[in-house]
Amino acid sequence: MELKFLSRSENETFARNAVAAFVLPLNPSLAELSDVKTAVSEAVTNAIVHGYGGKEGWITLRCKTEKNSLHIEISDSGKGIDDVEKAQQPFFTTASEEERSGMGFTIMQTFMTKFSLQSGKGEGTTVRMEKNFGDKAGIDAR
Ligand code: ATP
Ligand code: MG
Repeated sequence: MELKFLSRSENETFARNAVAAFVLPLNPSLAELSDVKTAVSEAVTNAIVHGYGGKEGWITLRCKTEKNSLHIEISDSGKGIDDVEKAQQPFFTTASEEERSGMGFTIMQTFMTKFSLQSGKGEGTTVRMEKNFGDKAGIDAR
């Protein structure tokens, strides 16, 4: 599926719930679903607050399922990231005055099975993530 929506704060809720609805046929546990929704929220929030910095722009969300895994791609055409390695370090933020903790990418990496970041100054940003479901079958309450 592919969705395009504007960088408005209310669309963070729209995006996370759209992905949740899309992945339901894979029968995720509540814990897995919560991980995916949190990761999508973090990526979309980054596009809104950092990528577009309060200006209006389009965010594209693509998802596909493959066997028992979900692939997600979230991209913006905003200002991009100068140093992608540094940006991924825990507690690194360029918005400390806005009380951001710099944990968004760390959360995406921790909650998802795979994560990758593609960006460059002035080039926009694309986050790709994958979640495998059922890895801990029997532990999560389904
Ligand atoms: P938190 O997510 O904890 O509220 P944060 O957003 O600053 O804080 P991360 O999500 O880890 O932390 O992002 C780290 C930094 O990477 C950001 O401070 C910002 O400088 C940069 N960044 C992240 N996403 C984007 C984006 N889509 N466009 C431009 N810069 C980004
Ligand atoms: Mg963030």
